[in-house]
Amino acid sequence: QTIPQSLAQTAERYPHHDALIDVAAGRSWTYTEFLGDVRRLAAGLVRLGLGPGDRLGLWSPNRWEWVITQYASAEIGVLLVNLNPSYRQREIEFALNHAQVSCVLAARSHRDLEYQNMLHIARPNCPALQRVVFFESEEWADLLSVPAPELADEVARLRDGLSVGDDINIQFTSGTTGFPKGATLSHRNILNNGYLVGELCHYTADDRICIPVPFYHCFGMVMGNLAATTHGAAMVIPAAGFDPAATLRAVVGQRCTSLYGVPTMFIAELALLDSGDLGDVDLSSLRTGIMAGSPCPEHVMRRVIDEMHMAEVSICYGMTETSPVSTQTRSDDSLERRVGTVGRVGPHLEIRIVDPGTGESVDRGASGEFCTRGYSVMSGYWNEPEKTAQVIDADGWMHTGDLGVMDDTGYVQITGRIKDMVIRGGENIYPREVEEFLYTHPDILDAQVIGVPDDRYGEELMAWVRLRDGAGDLTADDVRAFADGVIAKHKIPRYVHVVEEFPMTVTGKIRKVQMREDAVDILG
Ligand code: ATP
Ligand code: MG
Repeated sequence: QTIPQSLAQTAERYPHHDALIDVAAGRSWTYTEFLGDVRRLAAGLVRLGLGPGDRLGLWSPNRWEWVITQYASAEIGVLLVNLNPSYRQREIEFALNHAQVSCVLAARSHRDLEYQNMLHIARPNCPALQRVVFFESEEWADLLSVPAPELADEVARLRDGLSVGDDINIQFTSGTTGFPKGATLSHRNILNNGYLVGELCHYTADDRICIPVPFYHCFGMVMGNLAATTHGAAMVIPAAGFDPAATLRAVVGQRCTSLYGVPTMFIAELALLDSGDLGDVDLSSLRTGIMAGSPCPEHVMRRVIDEMHMAEVSICYGMTETSPVSTQTRSDDSLERRVGTVGRVGPHLEIRIVDPGTGESVDRGASGEFCTRGYSVMSGYWNEPEKTAQVIDADGWMHTGDLGVMDDTGYVQITGRIKDMVIRGGENIYPREVEEFLYTHPDILDAQVIGVPDDRYGEELMAWVRLRDGAGDLTADDVRAFADGVIAKHKIPRYVHVVEEFPMTVTGKIRKVQMREDAVDILG
């Protein structure tokens, strides 16, 4: 069967299939209805004066308007600028100015954040910004109204003028390691990635994908939305922000076949299932799903497979700069590979592990910097050619800053980030390895390990741990007793710090930079 080249072709093939379900809003769209709203909004955006190359900001948690806007802007070659729902004043102004955004579509508020006030304050500081339209306003309803025939013609003309290499999206990286960077992505980048990820999940028009991961990030908008629409599958939005109970209820209520999450989300869902608070939860509709975004602990993968009915679940590894997925486990991979590696290279891509010092490929089985090449590599960081040149080399390889090991058969393990690696008394320690060990402690729910400055060794290991309900306290001595004789002495954390939550980005990633800063205060 041929690949649908556009949303219109998917809609032609599956006109009456569900395209989008927003559980919180109580609304759903078939592919015909979805295409209709997308085309109307595209005309509305043209009426606002937007055209190819213009930057449209989208500031909202996961809601149906997000998805319609994603496809409407792509129809007319407008660059969608994804704005993180947890941005505050300084960050929103930085992003709007950095990408020279001329128009913003936004929810009025989310959680305790008032987008309306922040945008009002931002106006005088953001000279490029000419227009703000809020969802649920009259102006928004107007944008979705049936357009005059000339406008519809103009949309069709713009659509015909698109080429696959055009940039259509600016996404800021998560900011795990520092300031977010504006990765600029083309139709070719993200459409291919979404489609190919969907192929490896074996999606068909019968699939229903539950997407609790943020749309403003590739995980939601590419691996979720684009994988769905290129296969005629349905996108299910369980709630505006991540809510484990709402997610599990949406899976049950919508008979979802696939569920996405970063490890932290699956950990929360499993804890909720353990608590019994939801009563009987029938997850038997689930078949597959994706866990990605940060290291996926083996015990979580195993429980997701065994207890959440997700027999075919895959792990993906990637980054915003590569649209995002570079490697993925396959459903027919052995269990060991599916829980212990991030899979092998995706179709039509190349990967390579290099010595970060020399840039030469390392031997199989040796650790080095993970590099990707192919259709998925971004055009560059928006307006930052020097930063782009630092990560994409002359041969087109994207240097990820992640450390990986590839075995003889091409399967890869991500062992850490170059920036996270701890060097204690000359010994390289990968926090990931220590974290995997800590997970085996019966009282530990989640663990993160960082390096903290130390006079004697240069760096020492500090573990931050979240304890299971009912566990008492956990001290460094307890951990030492538990680890003694099981792992090498230098890998046993010197400090243990018990927390309720880790500092996180809105994508659910742990902010180790923040932890390292906080650690200095905690340790005095
Ligand atoms: P910034 O670049 O601003 O510091 P970030 O790298 O966290 O932020 P993203 O592009 O969202 O921003 O995340 C990509 C990173 O997430 C990868 O470089 C990698 O470190 C990590 N990652 C993604 N998937 C996996 C995985 N399956 N296993 C381990 N790490 C992963
Ligand atoms: Mg990064």
